[in-house]
Amino acid sequence: MGYTYDHENIFAKILRGEIPNDTVLETEHSLAFNDIAPQSPVHVLVIPKGPYVTWDHFIDAASDAEIADYHRAMRQVIDKLGLSPGEDGQGYRVIVNSGAAGVQEVMHLHTHICSGRDLGRMIPNEPK
Ligand code: 5GP
Repeated sequence: MGYTYDHENIFAKILRGEIPNDTVLETEHSLAFNDIAPQSPVHVLVIPKGPYVTWDHFIDAASDAEIADYHRAMRQVIDKLGLSPGEDGQGYRVIVNSGAAGVQEVMHLHTHICSGRDLGRMIPNEPK
């Protein structure tokens, strides 16, 4: 087993500039842009520029510089949008869906940063 990266996934096309995006922030190794179908008033996606499928793939295969850049890019988004509770922001939720059980639709690692409303419980209860 292992990961095979599909270079035709939608975020690869965004990174190549073949599909437009609403950029929030760009760093050396990462790109943050608004989700096309936001689930909350703030819904930003942060992706690494490298070809990584899931979070575990990224941690296994990316360089320390890419890993640090990715996490700092997320922090910069939270800063730019004024979301940090430590700085009187309203808070946020970070979500990384990975694989089938995580219901990952785009097979390029992405972190959702959501805020702007009460997001409810982390995982909805199973219907009885
Ligand atoms: P996943 O379910 O894989 O965790 O989330 C994929 C996300 O990508 C969804 O929230 C979806 O709305 C978003 N998305 C899919 N296609 C595009 C696109 O072309 N542009 C942008 N900005 N977001 C997209």
